[in-house]
Amino acid sequence: MTLRITHLGTGSRGNSTLLETSEVKVLIDQGFSGAQLQKRLAMLNITPEEIDCALISHHHGDHGGGANIAQRKWGMKILANERTAQELDLDPKLTSYFGPLDVIRIGDQLSILTVPVPHSGSENVAFVASYCGERAAIITDLGSWTDELIKHVYGCEHISIEANYDDQKLNSGPYPYSLKERIRGRGGHLSNNQTGQFLAEVSTKNTRNIVLTHLSEKNNSPHLAESTVLYYISELFEGDIYISSQDGPEITHYIGETDIQNLTPTKLNQVEID
Ligand SMILES: [Zn+2]
Ligand SMILES: [Zn+2]
Repeated sequence: MTLRITHLGTGSRGNSTLLETSEVKVLIDQGFSGAQLQKRLAMLNITPEEIDCALISHHHGDHGGGANIAQRKWGMKILANERTAQELDLDPKLTSYFGPLDVIRIGDQLSILTVPVPHSGSENVAFVASYCGERAAIITDLGSWTDELIKHVYGCEHISIEANYDDQKLNSGPYPYSLKERIRGRGGHLSNNQTGQFLAEVSTKNTRNIVLTHLSEKNNSPHLAESTVLYYISELFEGDIYISSQDGPEITHYIGETDIQNLTPTKLNQVEID
């Protein structure tokens, strides 16, 4: 009984991550064109019609820009909060709505918790998937974090999180001052240092895999992201660290092989999916 996690690609030109169990196939975000999604899934021998549903974190084009296309082309069922659904002009007949801290049940074993995170002009959420007693967090596009996020991500077996920029590269890079300020702000993105600090709060001996995602092509580099994050967590993290790029699909990670433990997040609200 395993949940397979495969990033189809992450970055400012599109994000989508596939979660697969023996029963269901779910996308987290659909920020690719129809052709790109189809091509990336085909590399895993999957067609878009096989996807049970896609959960959209927020309305920015690199995360939700392909949701409407997927509804029109393949009748894909989309889950989003109301603000995101409205901004993306989703088809209400093919859309289910979630709120903050909802637990979305998909199939018999998989549940996904929605945790609000601060991000400019959007109602962004992080997702924490629980499967057979283990948990995987998918967190992207946030300028800072909340105690609530720490509480729900603490001790997850798998953590995918953005490491968007290197402080020095952003400071000396080509972006105009106002854009630099926006990226650095509470509603912007996490720097490598911030991601390291967050991971130092939530990683435990349980944490097997960390994937750093959504690296800026101009203001970051894989070795800077990895070395900066490792500086913060090398004492407590014994697992493997990976860097996600724009061109997936990438290596598949697994959770859920172990026996059920009492790790399911608090159930505040339930959204049932057929
Ligand atoms: Zn965004
Ligand atoms: Zn983004």
